[in-house]
Amino acid sequence: MIKPDLQFAQFKRVLDYYSADPSFRKKMHEDAVHTLSELGFDSLDADDCLKGIEAFLRGRGFSSWGNPYLDRYIEWEKEVLESTERNFGTDRFRNPEISRYLTVSMNRCRTESMLLRMHSNARLFPIAIELGVGCRCRCPFCAFEAGEWKENFEYTPENAALWRDILRVLLRDLGPVAKEGTAYFATEPFDNPDYEKFLSDYEEIFGGIPQTTTALADRNPERTRRFIEWVGKERLMSEERIRFSVRTLNQFKRIISEFSPEELEFIELIANNPESVNMYSDSGRAAKKPAERFALNSEQESGMKTCDGGNDTKMRKVTAKYSVCCISGLLVNMVNKTMMFIEPELPCEEFPKGYRILEERAFSDADDFSVNMNELYAKYAIASLPKDDPVCINRYVRVRFTDRFVELTGPGAGYRIKRNVYTEEGIRMFEKGAGFREIVRKTGLPDEWEQAFYESMNELYFRGFIRIMYP
Ligand code: SF4
Repeated sequence: MIKPDLQFAQFKRVLDYYSADPSFRKKMHEDAVHTLSELGFDSLDADDCLKGIEAFLRGRGFSSWGNPYLDRYIEWEKEVLESTERNFGTDRFRNPEISRYLTVSMNRCRTESMLLRMHSNARLFPIAIELGVGCRCRCPFCAFEAGEWKENFEYTPENAALWRDILRVLLRDLGPVAKEGTAYFATEPFDNPDYEKFLSDYEEIFGGIPQTTTALADRNPERTRRFIEWVGKERLMSEERIRFSVRTLNQFKRIISEFSPEELEFIELIANNPESVNMYSDSGRAAKKPAERFALNSEQESGMKTCDGGNDTKMRKVTAKYSVCCISGLLVNMVNKTMMFIEPELPCEEFPKGYRILEERAFSDADDFSVNMNELYAKYAIASLPKDDPVCINRYVRVRFTDRFVELTGPGAGYRIKRNVYTEEGIRMFEKGAGFREIVRKTGLPDEWEQAFYESMNELYFRGFIRIMYP
């Protein structure tokens, strides 16, 4: 297991600085030795630092390119990936069909987006639970366009009993994988003062806790520090259970002055401030014009000007077509007692927040929760190509017929199957929308070929080139 290491903690801080702060980037390129010395990081090799940062930001997969600092980073990433793979193993699902469905859904997302294709450790969770309504942060880049904060789900005796019953239902019906969901979505975990109590129940019932990403790490540093200690270094090293989202450059500065490099060694800082090297998903508020967002406070405003093409060239509006929705399954709201079945979609006019709502239901208690949840999963978590329901070619996939093959190409993946009269006719029918049995009937496919034909079409479904048609 990876161990804490001062040099790694310092390199990670340099990387965090570089990602978030344009003036730091400039200083590093002008005089890296002096810049590191100002931070008190004299033992870091300036040249290796710069090379490590460059390779890191270029997207290096699991290769460190011989860089000693990245070696260590990759060691950590591999450890996290291994534990993620264990936590999402088929044996963690009560119903293996749901495990396969999540793979189908992820494959589709990767076929639709090269960015996601490159993120080998990205996962789709089967569930997210909101412990409130709305979000106080009101980030100008919020992909889910979270509404104004209205109410928290408080840890009253009655609510706690319902919560614990629901967690037991999730463990029984979905399996241990249910703890891999999050206890927030278009909400901020630390908006709820009882968040830690709700997570303690996860710990007791599941023997583990879900990941927390907070945009309020600096609001109450003592609370954040207590939370970090409660989660524990060992869990942070192997499972990366805490991440900080950085909304503004000022907030970044507050966070790093409050928390030492060692404290944040295994906590990812996601630089979402507009000056950062990262881009935004072209969805929700980030996709809107400033006047349409909402009245911004001064700190947010200083950032948003840059997001929309102000004159400052260090800051820019960079958005990309990808969804930040990491749920393919149930989105539960504990205040409203509602659940929705949702799937990620590339942001577009039809799905401006980057996800599709397939159905919404209310629940009254834990038993009712269980009935509705199981019905929704049975209805929408479709792991294999259905035989009767209509399916269609994924709208982001182009089809080309060559002499020998039918080629399907999406932004993130391509695939081809042998061309014959049945595959050609089948694909042409899928282009308009058709059911598998309908194709078999209309093409006059011989009975003895049906199984092989199904397997080849099912492979297209598994890889996300064809998908279910919803009204
Ligand atoms: S990005 Fe997160 S913290 Fe910011 S407004 Fe949206 S839900 Fe809230």
